[in-house]
Amino acid sequence: MNGRKLYLALPVIILAALLAFAHRGRFFPPREAERTLFAMDTVISITAYGADDAVLDECAAALSRLENDLSVTKESGTIARLNRDKQAELTPDAELLLKEAISVSKMTGGAFDISVRPLVKAWGFTSDERRIPPDAEIERLLKLVDYRKISLENGRAKLGAGMEADLGGIAKGYAGDVLSAILRSAGVSAAVVNLGGNVSCVGAKPDGKSWRIAVKNPAGDGIACILEKGEGHVITSGAYERFFTGEDGKIYGHIIDPGTGRPAGSGLLSVTVAGKNGAMCDALSTAFFVMGAGAAADFWREHGGFELVIITKDRKIFATPGIFPHVVPAGDFASVKVSEIPR
Ligand code: AMP
Ligand code: MG
Repeated sequence: MNGRKLYLALPVIILAALLAFAHRGRFFPPREAERTLFAMDTVISITAYGADDAVLDECAAALSRLENDLSVTKESGTIARLNRDKQAELTPDAELLLKEAISVSKMTGGAFDISVRPLVKAWGFTSDERRIPPDAEIERLLKLVDYRKISLENGRAKLGAGMEADLGGIAKGYAGDVLSAILRSAGVSAAVVNLGGNVSCVGAKPDGKSWRIAVKNPAGDGIACILEKGEGHVITSGAYERFFTGEDGKIYGHIIDPGTGRPAGSGLLSVTVAGKNGAMCDALSTAFFVMGAGAAADFWREHGGFELVIITKDRKIFATPGIFPHVVPAGDFASVKVSEIPR
């Protein structure tokens, strides 16, 4: 090409380069690294764009650290030691999470309470022997449930006699926070982590569109709706995750109302909380399942900072204004009209 031709072609070359840059996600999608693993009692998948396998190794190591430290069944971990000895020195993760858990307990008037474990056990949700405990047993165990009797001081936690703690209602959300931070600091352009249906999104999707996150159908197969949204966590609680049907035909789910000692029966099929703090979203979704739609909406009006999608037993879908336009009903719920929760 002589000088004059190059001079003429230059604007075209520059324009092409600019277009390619603007659409780089679409034309040249960044390298995608993916991993599926099993931890914290659930299948976890991580998809990261513009990342290499070393970042995924770091995520896997963090997950096994969290599981070993926070699971009630890992004997050398902080929570198992706390339950056994009624006191334990805390790792930074355990301390942070216990503080967060107690703060949500205070805010929800005890609807979220990690000391509910003796009842979770009595109903058989920690084993394969589901059962309906006799009333007297429930009354006796209820006396052991009280987050105000968990003390946190100088990096140590203490429980009252007979008490046991269980971070099952908050730990996966926290894992979402930890993995998101690892992915972000490794400079990945975008990533999505799915922790057994709880989803954490980092950055913007490479094709420039919103993330599309499915909420499971809590009353059958498939999905109930799709949420189109940006960065953050989407965490769902529901009885459908772990439950049994009693001889009375009633469904008994794994989320226990710390007020009654019985599986929460607040008229919800599922509640989804979307926000920036995964641990908080996780704890709130569990608490809201206990509290019911009206109290969850009141809590949102008072505190805000997150969005809510509620599916009720009468198969209605309610959503807060920030997410309402981005809820697309699907599957068995495709014909349901979403209602906006008024401010
Ligand atoms: P999630 O799936 O996040 O709603 O958490 C449910 C798990 O949290 C259960 O399997 C129990 O281990 C535990 N849990 C049950 N009821 C409560 C409660 N009211 N507050 C805190 N944790 C609970
Ligand atoms: Mg939860």
